[in-house]
Amino acid sequence: MDRYDIIIIGSGPAGATFARLLDDRYRILLVDRRPLHKSAQKVIKNCGGLIAPDAQKALASFGLSLPVNILVTPQTFAVETLDFDNDMIKSYQRHYMNVDRELFDRWLLSLCDTKNIKKSFSSHFISAKKSAEGYVVTLRKEKQQQDVFAPIIVGADGANSKVKKDLVGARKENEPLRYVSIQEWFKNETDLNRYVAIFDSEISDFYSWIIPKEQYIIFGSAIKEGDDVMRLHELQKKKLARYGYSLNKPIKKSGSYILRPKSSKDISLGIDDVALIGEAAGFISPTSAEGISYAMISGAKLAHALNEDREHFAAIYKENTASLRFNITKKILKYPFMYNKIVRKIIFQIGIGALDTNQR
Ligand SMILES: Cc1cc2nc3c(=O)[nH]c(=O)nc-3n(C[C@H](O)[C@H](O)[C@H](O)COP(=O)(O)OP(=O)(O)OC[C@H]3O[C@@H](n4cnc5c(N)ncnc54)[C@H](O)[C@@H]3O)c2cc1C
Repeated sequence: MDRYDIIIIGSGPAGATFARLLDDRYRILLVDRRPLHKSAQKVIKNCGGLIAPDAQKALASFGLSLPVNILVTPQTFAVETLDFDNDMIKSYQRHYMNVDRELFDRWLLSLCDTKNIKKSFSSHFISAKKSAEGYVVTLRKEKQQQDVFAPIIVGADGANSKVKKDLVGARKENEPLRYVSIQEWFKNETDLNRYVAIFDSEISDFYSWIIPKEQYIIFGSAIKEGDDVMRLHELQKKKLARYGYSLNKPIKKSGSYILRPKSSKDISLGIDDVALIGEAAGFISPTSAEGISYAMISGAKLAHALNEDREHFAAIYKENTASLRFNITKKILKYPFMYNKIVRKIIFQIGIGALDTNQR
C-alpha cells in the first residue's frame, strides 16, 4: 500500500492552493474525480467563473497573476440588477474578472508540479477507515480500487463533501443551507456585455444570474433543495423573456449543490486528523455565492498551520480562520439589504451606489 503524509481529496482552488503551499517535507497525494490531467479534454465545472475582488486580492497576496489565456470576453464592469419583486432595474459597478473556470483550476494545479506531490485524477474517493496510525483510504480509478494510507486527510471536495459526511459529520442545525444550482449555456444572440443578477422571491430566496462568456451566455439559478427546482428554473427563464432575454435551445447544462452558511457555526474545520477546507468546510459567501476566494484562503491557512506545527495544526488552523468566519458573519448581516424586498426597494429608489445609466 502506498503511504503518504497527507491525502487531499479534491483538487479545486482549495485543494490546489493547499498542496502548493505545503512544505516539501510532506509527501502528498492530491486526488480528484475530474479528468484534470494535462492531456485530458476539458470538462465543464459548474461555476460562473467570476474572480471577485477578494479572490484577486488572495492571488495578489500569493504573488500570482492570471495568465491571459484563462480570461474570456467580455471583461465587463457592471452588473445589472433585475428586481422582479419590485419590478425595478438598477446597474452597479463591479470589478470581477471573467475566466474560463476549468482553465483556472488547471492553472492552479500546474503550480503544484513538485516532486513531493503525486496527483491522481479521474480517481474517486470511496471510503476511509481509521486505524491507530492514520487512515486507509480507498480510491476507485477506471473501475480499479486501490488502498492508500496517510495519517492526515484533507477534505477539499466541495459543497457535497463525502469526506465531511463520512469522517466529520455535523449536527443538523449546524449544516449550511443547500441550494441546487443549474446552469445552462446559450448562444449570445444579443451581444449581451454585462452581468445580470435576478432577485425574484417567487423563484428563490437566493438569486439567479446571466453571465456572458465568449459567444455564449450562461443562465444559472440557485434554488433551495427540496423546492421544485426544474419548474422554478424554467419559470425564471420565461419571466426573463419578458425582459428581452431569450433563453432558448440550451447548448450545455450542468448542475450541482451550492452551500449557504446561516451562521459562522455552520463552518466545520474537521475533527482529529481530518481537516476541511473550501466549500467542504462551508466557506462561501452567503450573499453572492462567491467561493473561490474562501477556497484559496482557507487552503493557504491550513497549509501554514501544518507548516508551523504538525502536532497542533488543528488549533492553529482554527485560530487563523477566525477572520474568514467573521467575514461570513458580516455578510450575513448584509443579507437584508440584498434579500429583503422592502429594504431593496428603498435602496433602489434612493439609488445608493447605482450607476447613472442615462449616459448610454
Ligand atoms: C453554479 C455555480 C456558480 C458559481 N459561481 C462562482 C463564481 O462566479 N465565483 C466564485 O468565486 N464562486 C462561484 N461559485 C462557488 C465556487 O464554485 C465554489 O465555492 C468553489 O469552487 C469552491 O472551491 P473548492 O476547491 O472548495 O471546491 P470545488 O471547486 O468544488 O472542488 C472540489 C473538487 O473535489 C472533487 N471531488 C468531489 N468529490 C470527490 C470525490 N468523492 N472523489 C474525488 N474528488 C472529488 C471535485 O471533482 C472538485 O474538483 C459558484 C458555484 C456554483 C455551483
